[in-house]
Amino acid sequence: MDDDPNHEGAERPRATGRCECGGVRYRLSGHLRPVVHCHCTPCRRITGHHMAATATLRDDLHLESDATLSWYDRTEETRYGFCNRCGATMFWMATDKPSTISVAAGTIDQPTGLTAVLAIYTGEASDFHVLDADIESHPGDRPDTHPIWTGPEGDA
Ligand SMILES: [Zn+2]
Ligand SMILES: [Zn+2]
Repeated sequence: MDDDPNHEGAERPRATGRCECGGVRYRLSGHLRPVVHCHCTPCRRITGHHMAATATLRDDLHLESDATLSWYDRTEETRYGFCNRCGATMFWMATDKPSTISVAAGTIDQPTGLTAVLAIYTGEASDFHVLDADIESHPGDRPDTHPIWTGPEGDA
């Protein structure tokens, strides 16, 4: 963790963000992937709707406060980070790509400058959700060949 924004070579933050209560605060210094909506059942239950996440290199996420950050190890491979005080969904990580982290885009301070480009697991979306016809959608897992996964954040 790098908490000193003044050290030599520190990058200007690309974005900042926090949970609702402020117990978890972070800044992002690198490239951010376009937003992906994940409608899978675990994301639906955990977020209460669906996960809308950007992704970045783990080294580009700088936690300025993790006082109330907890992790839910949903499986041996995937975990969700959340605020244990206000309940905000914050992060998602997978053990097969430990160098990247997904960041719940709604926790980023406005304006984010991000665009949602892809919806996955739309086959598991809740029946009340109106899918956006303007966003490329996939009923199951993400297409690995999609260009948004070939950026510097790799397989996020
Ligand atoms: Zn909070
Ligand atoms: Zn999901």
